[in-house]
Amino acid sequence: MTNAMTVDVEDWHQLLVRYMAAEEIPPTSNVVEGIGILLALFEEWAIRATFFVTGRVAETFPAAICEIDSAGHEVAAHGWDHRPVSDMSQQEFAEDLRRTLDTLQRRRRSGDTVLPIFHLGQPRNGRSTCS
Ligand SMILES: [Zn+2]
Repeated sequence: MTNAMTVDVEDWHQLLVRYMAAEEIPPTSNVVEGIGILLALFEEWAIRATFFVTGRVAETFPAAICEIDSAGHEVAAHGWDHRPVSDMSQQEFAEDLRRTLDTLQRRRRSGDTVLPIFHLGQPRNGRSTCS
């Protein structure tokens, strides 16, 4: 049996402020704390996962994305700012996707080729460290 594990990397504090107060704030460090907890658990249980990361989280906390990548997990796009695709025009969606993929690729340590979809490549076997 093959199992799959995915993680949504977004900051719910940021999203709740948007939805409840119609105010835009940057992602908070809560998201980094959650990533650290999951990376430790996944390391302990030898689990590899796909982390779907918003572009704003990657832009705000680049070291966290590097740590995900360096631990051998797959990094994938979860939109720039967690906006529903159904709320965007085709042009807005294309821009959102390009901006997100560009940001995620810059935050990764590996030079893997970026595929022109949400997927950013296979988890690597080797490990590296984030500086
Ligand atoms: Zn999500």
